Order: sequence, then structure tokens, then C-alpha cells
Amino acid sequence: MDWDKLGYDAVETLCEYLRIDTTNPPGNEAPGAEFLGDVLRGEGIEFRLYESALGRSSLLARLRGSGEGRPLILLNHIDVVPANPENWQIHPFSGEIADGFIWGRGALDMKGMGVMELMAFIAAAREGLELGRDVVFLAVADEEAGGYSGARMLLEKHPEELEADLVINEGGYATMDLVPGKPFFMIANAEKYGYWLRLRRRGIGGHGSMPTGQGALDHMVPALARLLASKRPMSINPTMQAFFARLAEHWEILFPYRDDGSLETLERLVEENNLAALPALSAVVRDTVSLNMLNAGVKINVIPDEAEAFLDCRLLPETEGDDFLAYIREALGDPDMEVDVFMDMERAPASPLEGLFIAAIERAVRANYPDAVSSPFMLSGLSDSRFFRARGIPCYGIIPARLGLADLTRIHGVDERIAVQDVKDGVKFLYDLIVETCRP
Ligand SMILES: [Zn+2]
Repeated sequence: MDWDKLGYDAVETLCEYLRIDTTNPPGNEAPGAEFLGDVLRGEGIEFRLYESALGRSSLLARLRGSGEGRPLILLNHIDVVPANPENWQIHPFSGEIADGFIWGRGALDMKGMGVMELMAFIAAAREGLELGRDVVFLAVADEEAGGYSGARMLLEKHPEELEADLVINEGGYATMDLVPGKPFFMIANAEKYGYWLRLRRRGIGGHGSMPTGQGALDHMVPALARLLASKRPMSINPTMQAFFARLAEHWEILFPYRDDGSLETLERLVEENNLAALPALSAVVRDTVSLNMLNAGVKINVIPDEAEAFLDCRLLPETEGDDFLAYIREALGDPDMEVDVFMDMERAPASPLEGLFIAAIERAVRANYPDAVSSPFMLSGLSDSRFFRARGIPCYGIIPARLGLADLTRIHGVDERIAVQDVKDGVKFLYDLIVETCRP
């Protein structure tokens, strides 16, 4: 296999793919799916398109294996979040190469990974790899709006097509700033789940010139202040314990944990060193609450008789919704507050921290990135992995892009880009991953 040539083709393919605007909403994934289909057709590989609505398609292609094991799914999403060209250095849908990077909305999240998976899949087909299981390339619609018209729809309508022993998806990156000089591959084996709440409080309306202290906001505001002042206790789950254990081999402040492996020591070190002051770390060691929307009042001189607040809560996979609701009610301290769960995202158990698959991923990391450190990790956000994990299918999220912590803000932010070298190396990495996990 001429990896250089294949890497070059991957870069060209990504540039073209980024030029297809699949902003969600509305999605418009069909042209993206057809583009991927054209590449597969050029290789003589069959594929199927699944339409969830007009202009919204997902694509599935399969390399047949001997059936000793159930399939490996290479999962990616076609849609991207909106981008305002005015704020970007390079137009988000131009797919241009500059300074060694391919620029565009989706370069990292996650058309770049989609193309790396596609080219690794094509390489496996060209090589005529002997496979002990099918390899499925699956590009889906709608991830950025919750995945209901993409991954979840496919799992509900075509479960037989999506049977698998293993799914590789987005979720983690290789960060360059955690251990200086070494890419730190975060392999997401778990994620938090969204638990969105609507609070409603009624009060007595009236004229703004005669405050009664009984208006809806007179009750709502102090209750919210009480809630925001309270915090869920720290809870470092097995995934994050494994993460800190890997980090502790390199971070002096964590050496005591490296030496005694005790959770108590770890919790003390996280507290003492104020690690949870970093929002990204705080989010993965506790349930979080973010007050993001408030509705009340129609006019400045009218006391509102009703107020609403919306809370974006993100719960650890171990947290039971009912327990969390009891905590919220207590923290609000107002028995007349109505609390409704208006969106309970699919809660999914973590995928195994140990075993054949994660070992194979770590081997492929070491083979392709000699200095690399790797570790399990829990995502604070959501991905399509949850639908598979909830059905008992192990899912690991890893995009082999080497990023500084500052680069992470480009994801869903401005000037999203991926290094040309990362795309080239990523194709080979994913090919090795196929070899490692699908050997007969
Ligand atoms: Zn994504």
C-alpha cells in the first residue's frame, strides 16, 4: 500500500467534502452522503443510503468478513454546526489548505475523521484484508441536533444492519498540552448524559408600582441563587480514575496517587491542587447544572405571575435521574417550584475499560505515534456513541488529531482546521485498528 498516495487522496477528498455545506439545522446531509457514495462507487464498493427526511441521508457500506465475530462499525456524522463566515480567517466552506492545515467547518468535528475512516476502509478493501468480522463504514445524519434522525433512527429501524461488537467514533482527541512533548490520546469510553429541566414558579401578579414580594420572580430568583450556590459532590468514576492514573505517571502533583492508587488520595490531590477549577475537568468529576434560559414578564411595570427557567444538567453515567431530581428540589428549597424533566437523553453505561478492543486501540496508537500516551476518558458532552452503548455495544471515541488545548475551542468555534499530517497519519492508524480488531 502506498500510504503517501492514500494520505494525499484523503486530504483531497476532505477538502472537497468540506465544501459541501451540511449545516444542521437543517442538515442537508444528502449531498454529503452522495459524495461519500461517489468515492465508494469509484472503488467498486456497494453502499446503501437511508433517508430520514427529504435531503437528509445516512450512508452504510460493508466489507464482508468470515463472521467469526460481529462487525466493527466505523461511525461518523455528516452534519456540522453553523459557522458565520464573517468571523473566520478562511471561509468555513472553502476547504482550503493553508499553513499545513485543512480549514473548514467539520475539519475536526467530524468530516476529517469521516474521511480517515473512509480511506482506511477503502485501503482494507483494496488490500483484500482477511477479516474475521464485517467492517461497516457508517456516515450518519443529525448528530449535531441529537442524532434522532440519524444514528438512533437507524438503530430503531434497521437494528440488523447495525449489529456490532465494536464501534469507533468521535469523542476524544490527542491533546498536546497534557504531557509536554507527548500526544495524549484520550479514548472516550464513556460520556455524561443530558438531563434538561424546566422549572416553573407561579406568583401573584400586580402593578409594578406596588411590589408585594409575592411575584413569580420574587420566588424564582432566590431559589435559583440557592441552586447555583450549591454544587454536587465530586465523584471520580472508574473511567476518570484510569485517566488520572495515566496522567499520574507524568504529573508530579499526582505522584502520591501513582504511588498508592487510592481514590481518597486522588480526591485530595484534585482538591488541593484546585484541578476542578478548570471547567473541562470540573465537568468530568461531578454532575453539573447550567442555567441557560429564563422567561418571565411581559412589561416593565407589570409584576409577572409566572416565571420559567431552563437548566442544562449533565449527569455522570452513574447518576440516577431520580436521585438528581431530589437534589435539585432540595437545593431550590421551594416546595412550590414545579420541576419537569423535558429532555432525558439516552443514558448509557461506560464501555469496558479493559479488554481486547481497548488494548488493540492502544497498540495501534503506539505503533503509529511512538511518543504517545493514551488513556480512557469520559466526554462531558454527547455523541452518537450513547445510542450504541445503551444497546450494549462497546463504543470508543478517538479522533487522531494532535491538538493544543487552545485548538479545542475551534470545535464548534471559529477557524476549525485539521493538520494535513494528522489526516495522513490518521488513515494509517485507523487501518491498523481494522487489522488489529478484525483479524480472523
Ligand atoms: Zn461531532
